Amino acid sequence: MTYKSFPLFLFSFSLICLFPTFTSANDNDENIYDKRMALYKKTEALTEIPWYFIAAVDQYERQIYKDIEDDQVISIRIPPELWFGPGNDSMDENAIKLLGGIGKDGNGDKKADPDNGEDVLFTMALYITSYGYSAEDFKIALWNYYKRDLTVQTIKNTARVFKKFNGINLTDRDFPVAINYNYSYRNTWGDRRGFGGNRIHEGTDIFAGYGTPVHSTTYGVVELKGWNLYGGWRIGIRDIYNIYHYYAHLSGFQDGLKVGQIVKPGDVIGSVGSTGYGPPGTSGKFPPHLHYGMYKDNGYSEWSFDPYPYLRKWERMTKNKD
Ligand SMILES: [Zn+2]
Repeated sequence: MTYKSFPLFLFSFSLICLFPTFTSANDNDENIYDKRMALYKKTEALTEIPWYFIAAVDQYERQIYKDIEDDQVISIRIPPELWFGPGNDSMDENAIKLLGGIGKDGNGDKKADPDNGEDVLFTMALYITSYGYSAEDFKIALWNYYKRDLTVQTIKNTARVFKKFNGINLTDRDFPVAINYNYSYRNTWGDRRGFGGNRIHEGTDIFAGYGTPVHSTTYGVVELKGWNLYGGWRIGIRDIYNIYHYYAHLSGFQDGLKVGQIVKPGDVIGSVGSTGYGPPGTSGKFPPHLHYGMYKDNGYSEWSFDPYPYLRKWERMTKNKD
């Protein structure tokens, strides 16, 4: 169909579809999680790699490329030179092997195709399991492949989350303060901050009384816990989308909460306070509130983005649950 013959009503319809719908997982989403899981389980059957290891590698790579399609099942991209071997562009397994490439045929069509999800999962699983099958071997394999500590840690933790909740469709979310308490917030993204020079406000402040429970918004792993000059008592949780969630100015932490602990949406991690802007224990220099920040990592660098639209969405989701 040419541009000129494209019917106007279809054009309007596609415009409407561009707007976010704020619904939770729809039928297509469910479908793609099932498709992915089927391929992870198939790869496990072929190579004995636990499905949650290969799922975590795929999940990690899905977050680092900008051109991933919504309906793309597998996102791992193995660099062509590594896949084919230097100077080779044949998908023949023997030719690849001869030139030191790692590309393998996973779906039995006699071609090792780097654009075929099954071939890619099979190849990556064989690469990883060539180091062994323990969690430690997995870590070494990942380090040799990605050569970045945060990447290795994120994939390892994502695998732990997938294993613990026995699934990959972990789309539930929660609001970061208990919604049955009084609280208020507005969009404060980018406001100027006086203390500590010309800092820009990287987050949303949710005002609430001392002791209001603070909830994890996502599935993830506690990456950091302790004191920071500006943040006071604060917690950092990295989710399975490689997003770091930062909770600051807490009056205290939930008993027993540890770095490395797996959390889910709604888990209490601490309570609202007014700590920070001084040495450890400093409190009361401003009204009690939760500072909530979100940071995205793309495998190279990390940057903050505005949590406000997400907070509005998760607030609605949480109200609908109760
Ligand atoms: Zn703040």
